[in-house]
Amino acid sequence: MRTLIIGGGLSGLALAEALATKGHDFTLIEARDRLGGRILTEHHAGAAFDLGPAWFWEGQPRIAALLNRLGLIAFEQFSTGDLLFEDAQGHVQRGRGGASMEGSLRLMGGLSALIAALTARVPMQNMVMNTAVTALTATASGITATLSNGDSLVADQVILAMPPRLAAQIQCSPALPDTAMAAMRSVKTWMAGQAKAVAVYDTPFWREDGLSGDASSRRGPMVEIHDASPASGGDVLMFLL
Ligand SMILES: Cc1cc2nc3c(=O)[nH]c(=O)nc-3n(C[C@H](O)[C@H](O)[C@H](O)COP(=O)(O)OP(=O)(O)OC[C@H]3O[C@@H](n4cnc5c(N)ncnc54)[C@H](O)[C@@H]3O)c2cc1C
Repeated sequence: MRTLIIGGGLSGLALAEALATKGHDFTLIEARDRLGGRILTEHHAGAAFDLGPAWFWEGQPRIAALLNRLGLIAFEQFSTGDLLFEDAQGHVQRGRGGASMEGSLRLMGGLSALIAALTARVPMQNMVMNTAVTALTATASGITATLSNGDSLVADQVILAMPPRLAAQIQCSPALPDTAMAAMRSVKTWMAGQAKAVAVYDTPFWREDGLSGDASSRRGPMVEIHDASPASGGDVLMFLL
């Protein structure tokens, strides 16, 4: 049975790795020139900074099992100290509640280390990059996928590993029921409206002042601020806009 995976984010890539390990026949198609989807890690002075997702939590057995199997190492988010809150008038209050990210975990090397480890276990010939699936047509011999490069591909089953709103842009024949299309279009893509920026400082001045680095603002564009320092040291703040 030939499986077509559409989307090379963590979902699609983890599935591809599982199918490759079991010797199944599959092709993964990714629209962009890189894998990882919403996962994006930038490197600066030997340290890794997640500009997409960064945190996961104890009690998420699948990610824990995946990291364990791939030999990747998690570390705890820094969360010692007070947090700051700025109200809409610009008044800053200190210590209103605990550190918001207390107990969360991050990955040594950033989450792109997970993408790299999975990619290394998927044969290159099973992946097509820079190519979007534009249409899916059910035929007697399977499902034909039309690709943005003009090619087509036939599979027995198709897995859409992407946000429902993007999946709704793929032309399906026969068409999906209106209720299904409406449901897919109505699902918001998690964090699609957010962007991250990181600032690297000479010293972790907030830690020296008894602050966790966690802050939120109802006034300025930086709605959330967190300590994004690597495990080895503290000198980076991450701003969520
Ligand atoms: C700024 C930010 C911060 C976040 N923080 C966290 C966090 O701390 N913790 C957490 O758990 N989650 C977080 N998230 C959410 C997390 O990133 C996503 O839930 C997760 O990465 C989704 O992975 P995915 O593989 O399902 O989808 P995606 O990563 O969206 O991958 C979908 C892939 O499909 C491709 N694609 C789309 N359409 C087509 C097509 N027609 N043909 C071929 N390919 C196509 C896209 O290019 C993309 O690579 C955050 C997200 C953002 C943006």
